[in-house]
Amino acid sequence: MSVEFIAVDIPKEGELVEVATGIFWLRMPLPFDLDHINLYLVDDGDGYALIDTGIGTKRVEELWELILAKLDKGISKVIVTHMHPDHIGMAGFLVDKFKVALYMSHSEYFVARAISAGSRGASDWQDDNYLVRCGMGSKYIADAQKNRRESKGVGQVIRPIPVAFERLQAGASINLGGELWRVIIGRGHSPEHVCLFNDERKILLSGDHVLPIISPNIGVYSTEPNANSLEMYLSTLPPFLDLPSETLVLPSHKQPFHGLHSRVEALLAHHHLHLSNLRAFCAQERSIKECLPILFKRELNQHNMFFAIAEAFSHLNYLYFCGDCSREIGKDGEYLFKTKEA
Ligand SMILES: [Zn+2]
Repeated sequence: MSVEFIAVDIPKEGELVEVATGIFWLRMPLPFDLDHINLYLVDDGDGYALIDTGIGTKRVEELWELILAKLDKGISKVIVTHMHPDHIGMAGFLVDKFKVALYMSHSEYFVARAISAGSRGASDWQDDNYLVRCGMGSKYIADAQKNRRESKGVGQVIRPIPVAFERLQAGASINLGGELWRVIIGRGHSPEHVCLFNDERKILLSGDHVLPIISPNIGVYSTEPNANSLEMYLSTLPPFLDLPSETLVLPSHKQPFHGLHSRVEALLAHHHLHLSNLRAFCAQERSIKECLPILFKRELNQHNMFFAIAEAFSHLNYLYFCGDCSREIGKDGEYLFKTKEA
């Protein structure tokens, strides 16, 4: 099962590439292993509607100045698919510059406001407890606590979020330049992720919900340790199989592609394979940490480890909530998952 990338050059920093009539692709850098995010500008009549904004760094602000100087008209709408900093980071900057509306789903907007505001001094024993339940050991937990207290938080890479927004919700449509884009909600990667589908032209702005090559992170984090994120992801992917197979997909990472159905099938199969490998591995009691090598073959650095633990947690919670595994607490406070006899 494979996808077919469209035959256009990947835009260099500060450049725009037209991927469909009136739809322009640009890239902004990210300081991670995944080193870029794709943004899209859609002709909206007297301006361009922007889909996602880039992480809130000085470098991205400079690139925005470069891009804006090249455009023949301004930004008319700022649409953000979900609250992760690479998507929402520069939203406030652009909304203020053009005095236009910010369009998001209700959950994504308020979660973004909350995470960028930080804990406001609330105690963080739940963050420690989460890592204890993951079986991470006292050294890792002490280091994580130190990092948490010293870091200035995710608010550093998110420009102040506008105090008002326009709500995008499932089933509604937004008019961009006289064309309707239907809102389809995905869950699991983030709480209420917005995808936009143009039925007329068969174009999907998929955000991070459907990505080529890589699988979006599906995590359980300390904020909601009993979340069943993977169930949410697996149940909000199949509706994309109802969209036309020839749909052009414009994702937030890697490249625009055709092959939506095979990509959705591959993402479903990827998680089901992980689940069946974990069921076999948990024939004996296993902690979340012990399960990491089952999901990740590569070496994990500190940044990756944060997401890897969350990803393993989401798979094991899935098995627990569907009744395939038991979940007990071990002698060091760690969760121990064990597959039930068939
Ligand atoms: Zn994301």
